[in-house]
Amino acid sequence: MDFSLSDTERETRNWVRTFVQREIMPLEPLALRRERNHQPGLTSEEMAELRHKARQSGFWGVQTPEEYGGMALSAVMTALIEAELGRSFIPFRFGGYADNILFHANDEQKAEYLLPTIEGDRVSCFAVTEPGAGSDATAIRTTARRDGSDWIINGEKTFITGGNEADFTMVFAITDADKGVNGGVTCFLADRDMGWKSEYIDTMGEWGPAALIFDEVRVPERNVLGEVGQGFALAMQWIGRGRYLLPARAIGACERLIEMAMEHARNRVTFGEPIAERQAIQWMVADSATELEALRWLVLSAAWQVDQGLDSRQAQSMAKLYGGVRANEIVDRMLQIHGGMGYTRELPIERWYRELRLLRIYEGTDEIQRRTISRNLLKGHVSIRGLLG
Ligand SMILES: Cc1cc2nc3c(=O)[nH]c(=O)nc-3n(C[C@H](O)[C@H](O)[C@H](O)COP(=O)(O)OP(=O)(O)OC[C@H]3O[C@@H](n4cnc5c(N)ncnc54)[C@H](O)[C@@H]3O)c2cc1C
Repeated sequence: MDFSLSDTERETRNWVRTFVQREIMPLEPLALRRERNHQPGLTSEEMAELRHKARQSGFWGVQTPEEYGGMALSAVMTALIEAELGRSFIPFRFGGYADNILFHANDEQKAEYLLPTIEGDRVSCFAVTEPGAGSDATAIRTTARRDGSDWIINGEKTFITGGNEADFTMVFAITDADKGVNGGVTCFLADRDMGWKSEYIDTMGEWGPAALIFDEVRVPERNVLGEVGQGFALAMQWIGRGRYLLPARAIGACERLIEMAMEHARNRVTFGEPIAERQAIQWMVADSATELEALRWLVLSAAWQVDQGLDSRQAQSMAKLYGGVRANEIVDRMLQIHGGMGYTRELPIERWYRELRLLRIYEGTDEIQRRTISRNLLKGHVSIRGLLG
């Protein structure tokens, strides 16, 4: 069994590590100051500037196929990259990205939506969740009815990431109530200027998702993504595109948090000794480092299974569940080691504390991951002996 990285993987990982250290981390104090004043940490122009810098070094479209100018990197490499990016709380993502389901677009739609999204000229959002349909996406109520050669969409979506910034959405609506999710849901590419509205939702994180309101929004037939009635499968494909990527980012956050806490523990003296000499502190470091190591291998194993073309759903759910729960415990312990300073907004720890909480909720809550994991086992789809059998 070989757990080592290839030379190319190491070089690519190190390039991203250096990029994060040189280009992103120096912006952190500024971002924290702005966020304390209720402004975005970095403006969209500053983010675009960072993406541009990376592109000049050939870093563009991490998982995007080469025919679209991307790097088409493996899932393992992408997980390693996400972990490096996660070392900063600044939510940077390399450019050249487009949602996986947009690659199902026809040629006309590719020219209008996919290519400009990859180029960064258009911004998409993915809209399934509704006030009455979150974990149970089969309960969506948004409708689309035919009107001549158009569709008229009515309904409300909620918690849509990027919904305030997007100029088009991939929105999922019921087109055949009798069939429901079995052939009665369709995905539409709906431009903001076709009439949908977004409303900012204030959350405990630093960026807010949006509610999207569709009130008689007219969308032409040519904007159906994929086939009429086949939208639910597209939604599931989007959600399943890489569950391992969310906990991959948490790896980087946990590494940085533990490093910060160790540094603090070596320097902070109480009762005549650095707190690093106290067993209470050492155990928090030991438990966190052990859990981080376990998380690292859960994520990389899930990514490796994706690369091998195996059914990785169980591994991805386990990585997402473990990552969400453990990262939240780790950030809590590292905040504790920092004492009062950990609770301030001078340091990014409380920010990570708020941000990492989301990992237990979106793209499948802890409870939904547990449901998936236990069902797969109880129904005999997977073995308790895991990948090795
Ligand atoms: C910041 C943020 C960004 C998001 N971005 C997007 C986005 O871009 N696009 C999008 O479509 N959605 C998005 N979501 C929605 C997200 O996926 C849902 O919030 C999530 O799936 C949970 O749904 P819910 O909030 O309706 O909770 P509910 O489904 O109402 O669940 C409430 C509680 O009940 C538990 N529960 C539910 N069913 C079961 C069960 N069968 N057994 C045991 N427990 C259960 C849940 O785990 C949870 O603890 C986002 C959410 C947030 C907070």
